[in-house]
Amino acid sequence: ERTARPFVLELHEGDRTMAALLGGKGAGLAEMSRLGLPVPPGFIVTTEACRAWLAGAREPDGLWDQIEAAMVDLERRSGLRFGDPSAPLLVSVRSGARFSMPGMMETVLDVGMNDAVAAALVARGEGRFAWDSYRRLVQMYGRTVLGVDGALFDEQLTRLRQQTGAATDAELDAADLERLTAGFRWLVHERTGEDLPQDPREQLHRAVVAVFASWNGERARLYRALEGIPDDLGTAVNVVQMVFGNRGERSGSGVCFTRDPVSGAPGVFGDYLPDAQGEDVVSGSRSPMDLSELGRREPALHQELSTHLRTLEEHYRDLCDVEFTVEQGRLWILQTRLGKRSPAAAFRIAVELVDEGLIDLDEALTRVDGTQLQTLLHPTFASQEGLTPLAHGLAASPGAAYGQLVFDSATAMEWTAIGRAVVLARPETSPDDFGGLLAARAVITSRGGLTSHAAVVARGLGRTCVTGVEGLVVDPVARVATLPGGVSLPEGTVVSVDGTAGEVYAGQRDVEPSAVSTAISQGVPHTAEISDSTVRAVLTLLAHADLRRRLGVMANAETPDEARAARRFGAEGIGLCRTEHMLLGERRVLVERLVTDDDRAGALAEIEALALEEFTSLLVAMEGLPVVVRLLDPPMHEFLPDLVDLSVEAAVAAERGTLDAALERRLSTTRRWHESNPMLGLRGVRLLTVLPQIIDAQVRALAEATIALRAAGHDVRPELMVPLVADVAELTAARERMEGIVADVARAHDASLHLPIGVMVELPRAALTAAALADHADFFSFGTNDLTQTSWGMSRDDAEANFLAAYREAGILATDPFKTLDEAGVGALVAMAARDGRRARPGLGLGACGEHAGDPASIGFFARTGIDYLSCSPPRIPVVRLEAGRQAV
Ligand code: PEP
Ligand code: MG
Repeated sequence: ERTARPFVLELHEGDRTMAALLGGKGAGLAEMSRLGLPVPPGFIVTTEACRAWLAGAREPDGLWDQIEAAMVDLERRSGLRFGDPSAPLLVSVRSGARFSMPGMMETVLDVGMNDAVAAALVARGEGRFAWDSYRRLVQMYGRTVLGVDGALFDEQLTRLRQQTGAATDAELDAADLERLTAGFRWLVHERTGEDLPQDPREQLHRAVVAVFASWNGERARLYRALEGIPDDLGTAVNVVQMVFGNRGERSGSGVCFTRDPVSGAPGVFGDYLPDAQGEDVVSGSRSPMDLSELGRREPALHQELSTHLRTLEEHYRDLCDVEFTVEQGRLWILQTRLGKRSPAAAFRIAVELVDEGLIDLDEALTRVDGTQLQTLLHPTFASQEGLTPLAHGLAASPGAAYGQLVFDSATAMEWTAIGRAVVLARPETSPDDFGGLLAARAVITSRGGLTSHAAVVARGLGRTCVTGVEGLVVDPVARVATLPGGVSLPEGTVVSVDGTAGEVYAGQRDVEPSAVSTAISQGVPHTAEISDSTVRAVLTLLAHADLRRRLGVMANAETPDEARAARRFGAEGIGLCRTEHMLLGERRVLVERLVTDDDRAGALAEIEALALEEFTSLLVAMEGLPVVVRLLDPPMHEFLPDLVDLSVEAAVAAERGTLDAALERRLSTTRRWHESNPMLGLRGVRLLTVLPQIIDAQVRALAEATIALRAAGHDVRPELMVPLVADVAELTAARERMEGIVADVARAHDASLHLPIGVMVELPRAALTAAALADHADFFSFGTNDLTQTSWGMSRDDAEANFLAAYREAGILATDPFKTLDEAGVGALVAMAARDGRRARPGLGLGACGEHAGDPASIGFFARTGIDYLSCSPPRIPVVRLEAGRQAV
């Protein structure tokens, strides 16, 4: 039953469901006291009281009376009295918000200590304990209530240790600590003109108010902004009887987990520090001992602790993190919460809790996420202590790789061809570097952000990549890179690149392949046969996610190798084949010849022959599954020579008298096709009127490949997709042309052929006119890269480096809209187009194939919006399968 004190709850009056009112720590304490665990008695001043205080900046009516009454109860329960030297009750006053804000708010321990209490303890022969507790009170009260700089206390403490020759605080004796207490009190007086109040009730009162006020401290506000915690929740204040780990040999404090939070292995895991308070364990000033050591010293106590930990884990059905104190051989549990864990541990624990019957597989799926899986899929460096990186940058594409530095793509390809491992370093990359990106084990750039060309391509290829490396200067001509501090890295220097941390190291570090990735792609038959517990757990949860998910998972892939890798990772087809990727590298000149009308017919014939070959092998690699081939979408600047470079070349040639007609023509066509905003220029469906022959060639190649393969008995399922459509008239014109070609090819072979034709919704106008598009499309595929670029009006190539990163730093944007889908803006367009499209054509297929489709944080949105399938780069497929499953349970 609840006492009639609205602002105060005794521990036994609450439970774990009341975190909003009692804070996380308070709710945990209440729940443990309900479970009969040895929790010291206490009460909680609710968040409601804090909110009332914050609103009025003064004490809400009746609060203090209620605290006084609760203290009377606490005295009765503990058998001690506040301020009574013969049986002194000391209390801890701790903050505790609904969401954990570690170290962000204030705590005052040992409230109730004063001269009289200390003297009585000294008289009872507990001088060291008395002065240690007293100095802690002065220190925390001085800092928290009176605002004295905490560093000043630390300085005195350090000085005292130096004077006495004590290595740690534990070596200070009673006389030292008495001196320290006096020194601290002098410091407080000198700084504030106030003394530590001798009246315990005044200490308590002011400590509670100081904890309320710490909700609005600068650290706390910053932390909330960062973590997205609302500012109006307020903190609870836990007032609990002090138990003392600093009360001699048979006392101490510890922090432990119900299982290993790093590996997930079963068995209690933790640290214990004898003759210390909890703060000392966390601060790391002395090295704690392993819990097993406590087991050897105090077996009964260890046994009791293990029993409580089991009770907690079975009750919470999850890994718990527990703080405890031993006071003269008696165990007290002071705090519990769900324990933070490594990605590997998260999977293992979730599945082992299923094995133990504590949770079911649906629940287990909610205990892990795609981001955790992502980190388990990449190779890692074997850990090496004491190693410092050469340079830092942005963690653009995770992974770990080493190799010899090269500074241009040609060298990267040459060296790789003769079996060398290379790391490509560039100021930044462009489509010209594709061959180099493909050849290199890792890529580093001095410029560019997380959505720069290098970053996006590297992620797609699964290459390790660090962009925006601070202070890196790459000189491809002199074949050397330099770093600040005179570090010079000539071509051939071996470096190691950690794409997960965004760091570059000197020399070769050992790389370990991801066991998880290997197992997923090998399709290990029976999960029970696997000895690695984390691998087994990942496979088990992936299988369950596949059972539950409603979202299909497809791949963005162009080559048979990528297609096969995607299949092994569980792709159910290719959702986006970017045909312009088939024309990169050396083949780029084909596009140049096409637009310069320099043997256009010859270039077209070559492109068609290439396309026939590539489509054939891609369709075979994906036999039985859909392959969505997108018409060429080449932003012209990615295919034509750089106008400035070419102008310089021509000028130099003219100077030397070597300027020939070919170069002149090249310059004039490059000028003719040059665009100021190529991303908004001649791309995608817009080629229809300018270069329709290219569309014909691609469609003809796909139709020919399909008919030939089907005739040979292959089950191939190609579809066509039109990019960058803004208006329905573009779509109908393209569709008519494509259907005409398909019909021609079919007629020529005396076969029948139908290729579904879909449209990419990647411009705001397409989304706004979705109903009209749906009348002429078999499916929509949301291209959220361009949709983000065009609805924000931000260049996907330049925004990160030029201002997006600064936006995030300034707190203007919390996330990168090119990475995580902006639900409020871009998402609204997607949702509207999905709704209008389906209204116009019930059963319209809906896919998404921008980078966001592989982003764990965006997948919930697609699931809620009724998207049918997501298409992402092959390495992200397991991540998407898992996330899609999570969204469905
Ligand atoms: C998109 O714009 O989201 C998309 C998938 O197309 P691309 O990235 O090739 O422009
Ligand atoms: Mg696009």
